[in-house]
Amino acid sequence: MQLPSFARDYVYPLQISTPFAVGDVFSYLLLDEKIVLIDCGHYAGDSREQLKSHLREHGLTVNDLDEIWLTHGHPDHFGQAAWLADKSGAEVFGHPKERVNFAGNSDRELFRDFFYAHALPPSLVDQMLDQLEWLQQYQLPIEPQWVRDDEQLTSGRLSVRVRLTAGHAPGHIVFDSGEGLLFGGDLLLKQISTNALINFDPDSGERNKSLLQYRQSLKWMAKQQGMVLPGHGKGIRNIVEVTQHHLREHEQRYRGIQQLLEQHPKSLMELSRHLFADAIEQGALFLVLSEILGYLDWGEREGTIRQVNTSGGILYEKI
Ligand SMILES: [Zn+2]
Ligand SMILES: [Zn+2]
Repeated sequence: MQLPSFARDYVYPLQISTPFAVGDVFSYLLLDEKIVLIDCGHYAGDSREQLKSHLREHGLTVNDLDEIWLTHGHPDHFGQAAWLADKSGAEVFGHPKERVNFAGNSDRELFRDFFYAHALPPSLVDQMLDQLEWLQQYQLPIEPQWVRDDEQLTSGRLSVRVRLTAGHAPGHIVFDSGEGLLFGGDLLLKQISTNALINFDPDSGERNKSLLQYRQSLKWMAKQQGMVLPGHGKGIRNIVEVTQHHLREHEQRYRGIQQLLEQHPKSLMELSRHLFADAIEQGALFLVLSEILGYLDWGEREGTIRQVNTSGGILYEKI
């Protein structure tokens, strides 16, 4: 990936494989006055070895790290941060709205309540809770030092502002150099449309309207210039084009859901089966529910869709 010229001699993308459907993750090494890692891969032997070997190419070991900056608390991005910090004494930074994710608490009860309120079949609920549990092996809990929106971090020559860009995760942040270089985490990916996952605010326990947050974050991203270094896939220079593509795709799906609700009210599960039967078959129900729920939240906010509580769980109807 061809970086902007000012960054070429001290910003290095490090590719690390993951056991997750998304594929490899990119961590970014800043070989500046400080040695900084932006995201760091999941916690597992192979990921550790890959990172060590990348660092070796630069004459470094994990002990040399000064700081670790985390975009969000998903295992592919932060999983081995605690191990690295333990080895190196590096200071770790992340956003406080990610503290439940960083602590390795999966909000199991909140999810269970949510799924049951929507009358999802118990076997599928168990399957999704198992999937959440499965992720735990790939991350060590950590409590980073907190950085908030608009605060600054510096590696020396490079200073970045923290931009809270919620949606994919409640405390997802982008590191913005202000010079046309953005470390984007999972906010904007080229090939894949990132999911605004079902998540809960760690302070209130309320479910976030994550698609609406995500769209707001994308609209902020659409105003940025330069290059995004994402957590997955190649660097993105056509920021506006990629952002608009995702936003338009949301709008199409939103219209589709509105149409599906024209005839009669439907449950979250009915809508999910109707639109993404194959993905559900492949075990991606949680992603599907997250996606559909986003459009239902959107309709509720616009006053075009409302929830109806029935003895068979929550239904959604067109107003
Ligand atoms: Zn993520
Ligand atoms: Zn990711």
